[in-house]
Amino acid sequence: MNTSTAQLQVLVIGSGFAGATLAVRLNGRGRSRVAVTVVNPRLTFVNRLRMHQVATGQVVPAQSLQRLLGPGIRLIQGSVTDLDPSTGWATVDTAQGPERLHFDRVVFASGSRTQTPELPGAHLLYGVGDVDQAHRLRAALRRLPEGRRVSVIGSGFTGLETVTEIAEQRPDLQLSLISGTAAGAWFSAPAAHRVDSALSELRIAEHRARVVGIDPGQLALANGQHLDSDLSIWCGGFSAYPLAAHSGLAVDDRGAVLTDPTLRSISHERVLAVGDAGHTVRPDGERYSMSCQFAFPSAAYAADLLRAEALDLDVTGYRDFSLGFLARCLSLGRRRAVLQRTNGADQASGWALTGRTAVAAKRLQVSALLANISTERRFPGTMRWPAAPMGLDRSGHPVRD
Ligand SMILES: Cc1cc2nc3c(=O)[nH]c(=O)nc-3n(C[C@H](O)[C@H](O)[C@H](O)COP(=O)(O)OP(=O)(O)OC[C@H]3O[C@@H](n4cnc5c(N)ncnc54)[C@H](O)[C@@H]3O)c2cc1C
Repeated sequence: MNTSTAQLQVLVIGSGFAGATLAVRLNGRGRSRVAVTVVNPRLTFVNRLRMHQVATGQVVPAQSLQRLLGPGIRLIQGSVTDLDPSTGWATVDTAQGPERLHFDRVVFASGSRTQTPELPGAHLLYGVGDVDQAHRLRAALRRLPEGRRVSVIGSGFTGLETVTEIAEQRPDLQLSLISGTAAGAWFSAPAAHRVDSALSELRIAEHRARVVGIDPGQLALANGQHLDSDLSIWCGGFSAYPLAAHSGLAVDDRGAVLTDPTLRSISHERVLAVGDAGHTVRPDGERYSMSCQFAFPSAAYAADLLRAEALDLDVTGYRDFSLGFLARCLSLGRRRAVLQRTNGADQASGWALTGRTAVAAKRLQVSALLANISTERRFPGTMRWPAAPMGLDRSGHPVRD
């Protein structure tokens, strides 16, 4: 971009929370100097926070992506299957066949999905990490007769939300939660207590063990024992899609694009990454977690950086991305929840709410996320986030220079 009238061609891969936010903010603030193209496999918005509800057969309303993005943004239904970050060409697989697109800048906003573990029999596992995995699980749960055993492996947020959701929707099944660490280990004491009581109220058996293999109808545990399981769901973590690695970009061990503190790929200047697709290091040296708390501000930041480029503003020395975390909200089915205060480094710290207020807060969080994008479209530039202006130490406490 070196002429004053040319449009900066920006290709956005994926239109989840991060991709949609970036597109509307950039389109709204870039005036006529930016052309934004968004590629996404579906024409409806997928709210990944509700995938465990989809998997348990609940009706989750779908919103039109084109309406969410508004006019002025080109939306292509398809998947980017091939990308040359050096020459600026991408191939999009569409229902009408492959389409070639040129870009000046490309933003990876392609999110993540359940990471398949490297264990014998891993192909037998189910997941809730993306919409395809959620639909596959939904079909399997529908087929499962009363009284069968279901195991959820992993007691992080996704594991807890998934196992409690299934317990509420299918009380006829026998449920187990299997994890190497205690279910509420991440939380402060009152919240951990609420997690434990929810598991026992919902008759979910907790097993402290590591799964080392999957056989039809059985799980092999590291302690040598076997656990009967008719359907096993892996909630052991997310990984990015393989496109970035296949395109020759520098990626981490989960396939996420390694970025500098301005969210630009460390290997290719034309490439930025936001949300789950990007691996950006926090001031304390840890990675910003795959979360909505990171997806929104990273997208808004990248939009502003690209706008500055499009308007030929000086981007040398552009301030680094910085985000301080506030709280995390966990659903335990539809009637129970925990709202846990965190420190700036995303560790549980201080108060936690566990009653009706927490349930209401979780409902609000899930619905307000889409409203965030609509607000940003109508009033581009309004999204703000708490920064970690002085940097954080490993305990999340501010460090003065
Ligand atoms: C069950 C569940 C519960 C969760 N709960 C919480 C929570 O309570 N709080 C929280 O902060 N986070 C939660 N998360 C994580 C949160 O959903 C993600 O961090 C967030 O969705 C990341 O946003 P994103 O825009 O980066 O990616 P996504 O929302 O995953 O969007 C990426 C989009 O890119 C598309 N895409 C992928 N590859 C391509 C391609 N090659 N070409 C074109 N398009 C492509 C995808 O189809 C998708 O539409 C949860 C996740 C799950 C699965």
